[in-house]
Amino acid sequence: MIRRAGAIALALALALPPLRGQTGEPFVVRPSATPCLVVRSAPRSDAVPLSCILAGTAVSADSAVPFWRRIRMPDGTIGWSAKKFLGAPSEAGIAPLPAAGGAAGPTTPASIPDSAWLEIHVVDVGQGDGIWISTWDDGVPDNGRFEGRNIVIDGGPDASDQRNEFLKYILPRAHDGAVIDALIVTHPHNDHYPGARGIVAHFDVCDYYDPDTPNGPDFERFMHEVGAATCRGDPVRLRRGFPNFGRPDWGSELGVDFLWSGPITAGAPGMGSGGTRINNASVVLKLTYGTQSFLFTGDAEGKERADDPERPRYAEALMLADSAVASKLKSTLIKVAHHGSETSSTTPFIRAVDPRFVIVSSGRRAYSGTFLPDSATLQRYCAHNSQIRIYRTDQNDAAEGRTTTTDADADHIVIRTNGTVTVVQAYSAGQPYDPVACGP
Ligand SMILES: [Zn+2]
Repeated sequence: MIRRAGAIALALALALPPLRGQTGEPFVVRPSATPCLVVRSAPRSDAVPLSCILAGTAVSADSAVPFWRRIRMPDGTIGWSAKKFLGAPSEAGIAPLPAAGGAAGPTTPASIPDSAWLEIHVVDVGQGDGIWISTWDDGVPDNGRFEGRNIVIDGGPDASDQRNEFLKYILPRAHDGAVIDALIVTHPHNDHYPGARGIVAHFDVCDYYDPDTPNGPDFERFMHEVGAATCRGDPVRLRRGFPNFGRPDWGSELGVDFLWSGPITAGAPGMGSGGTRINNASVVLKLTYGTQSFLFTGDAEGKERADDPERPRYAEALMLADSAVASKLKSTLIKVAHHGSETSSTTPFIRAVDPRFVIVSSGRRAYSGTFLPDSATLQRYCAHNSQIRIYRTDQNDAAEGRTTTTDADADHIVIRTNGTVTVVQAYSAGQPYDPVACGP
């Protein structure tokens, strides 16, 4: 089924009834709401987060229940916030933000309204990667910004619709007529591309990216399916191999940097061989939105398991050696390479990225007896900065006794950013949880 052209709307973008003509009681978000005050669809801590507003933002409240107030935000959105983060405008320590052209708060980069949330969904696909990114839609088509673009990175390990957890996640959240503006297969391994078959079968796909690295007959069949995809009646554009990626236009508000993909030429040095070489071919993509940035690393590697983590090799060494690339690695958030394997995330690479949020997409599939992530890899991130928060799509999977066939159990990670703050909501078996920071 190929759906008509259009844009994906999130099921969680709930339309709540407006406050009927009343201004309500004024409140201001207290400074204790860091990094911002989450506004939810219902007065429950597990209700869907609608937005996150900065300290100092003026709101009005029209009703309350124990612990919660129903508020209207500057952009008119209505939701529920915890009472303890809302103070009277006259309260000591509260500095209301001056109104700045209606919805936009002054601490947001000038061109991005506070309410323009970009979302990144790291779906629990079991062992593998499946990531859906949706940009804000301002409702003005074709003005070159906030166009509601959909970008998919990999699709997880399951080719059949019945088992495809990535497809099952995205389908109910998509409009009829959804279009995937960009489908990126980081590299042709079977924990990354098979689930992308469901995307090709159920959605229009406009641009397809991969490293142009062959990997056997099944991947060739997949490429035949990709080649038959269409984008609003036109053929999919195949952008295979780093020199052919071009400069994608996913909206002028979004910075896009392809930092790595190889092999550029056959026999390029430093890439390893066999599966290592294919991992090192991974597309590495950085997105920048306001002051926040997001690095997606595929399975790019930095060492052999027994190598010294202080001495990068392979893709990490090649990125660090290229000053134009190395200077762009620093990111607010990293989707850790290779499911947190010991063969990636060398110390100099972690130092260059210097993330606040670390996302691990992994499951319960043993590689030579080893499950990913390796704890030593995560410890390297914590040693770099003990305030880092690590989120995992295999949350509790080992303790729950999950296997390769039961490890996709809704440990999803949803990241939202308005260009000023980044808010991560993680789930364990579908229930929200907050990880602790690495600790001292
Ligand atoms: Zn992988």
